Amino acid sequence: MINKHPREQTFNRIFIAGIEGKRFDITIKDGRFSSIVESGREYGELAPSGQDLWISPGVIDLHTHLAWTDFDHDDQLRRDAREIEAMQAEAFAATLRTGVTTARDAGGLPPGTVAHLVQHYGQPLRVQTSSDMLGAADARGVKYLEQHMKEIFDTGAGWIKIMATGGLGAPAEKVLDPNFSQEEFSFIVRHAHAHHKKVMVHTWGGVTIDWSIQAKVESIEHGMFLTEEQANGLAQSGVAYVPTASIYRIAADPAGVLALPPVICDRAARAVEAHPNAVRYAKRAGVRIGFGTDYATPALHGYNLQELDTLLDYGLTRVEAWQAATADAAEILGSGHELGQIAEGYLADAIIFDADPYQAGNAAQLRKSIVSVITGAAEADLI
Ligand SMILES: [Zn+2]
Repeated sequence: MINKHPREQTFNRIFIAGIEGKRFDITIKDGRFSSIVESGREYGELAPSGQDLWISPGVIDLHTHLAWTDFDHDDQLRRDAREIEAMQAEAFAATLRTGVTTARDAGGLPPGTVAHLVQHYGQPLRVQTSSDMLGAADARGVKYLEQHMKEIFDTGAGWIKIMATGGLGAPAEKVLDPNFSQEEFSFIVRHAHAHHKKVMVHTWGGVTIDWSIQAKVESIEHGMFLTEEQANGLAQSGVAYVPTASIYRIAADPAGVLALPPVICDRAARAVEAHPNAVRYAKRAGVRIGFGTDYATPALHGYNLQELDTLLDYGLTRVEAWQAATADAAEILGSGHELGQIAEGYLADAIIFDADPYQAGNAAQLRKSIVSVITGAAEADLI
């Protein structure tokens, strides 16, 4: 159940996820937490309804592709416009149902489509967008890039997404080759920042991570071949790391929901082998790690919480994994002052559970324990 922009709502004797042994009385007014106080002991230990509830901040997924309906873009082009729109609306709905209240779209979704889906389909997902991605086909010099970036700025997108290396489509020996010259790369970042746009960089590793550190982009994505030295560089220059770890496990499994050809599965398997090291280096260096899924098809939207399982498997603690999905993700978005925490004055984006989310055995259990999802924003604030 999605509870949109509550005018007034109170939870008595509720637990806040991650704070053990204390209950709270929490009031939401006009979509924000207006009061959070520890409950008195006078009514004993039980919740008033007899059923214990837990509240966590809404999850922030820093890497989604909500506009894409198929793994292969040619398959999407064969669908008619109405069908695509309905599928995109369902992607929004599935994402919200699983407790993701904010998403950063990593390419393909223009702000105009977000506004349409929020208004006409009533899906109150908060989305930051990057519109078109800059990739190999755009390595045509800075004059061209300046022109193309103007078109992206004109869509109203808040982010520029650079495809700095290949991905699953590239053979292993070429996947770390840069798509741009360093001159082009640093121009894109400088030009974006001069226009108050943030920059996210798709890179599997290699020299483009060094360029990202030098140019001080906001985040690098995937980065499975990150070195220990580069992790230190990210930490020092304040560049965040969004590993999007679970998608490569899914892609590596020939029997998984993506059911990819063997050559692609093999490339994904190499990524899966490297990813735990990258996450460990980042954690040890103190890099800000963000939760992102890279989920892009109907078989994946709504299963976003699986990324928590993978982050735990790769060495984050429960607290760190949740931090990556809430407060740290909000910081990466530049919204840390009002998003990602259960705190007075903050937007009431939240998930209500009927079991302690920090005790969930896996994402499927966690998902099943969701009672409702609250989105604090009024519709007008989302478009
Ligand atoms: Zn992506």
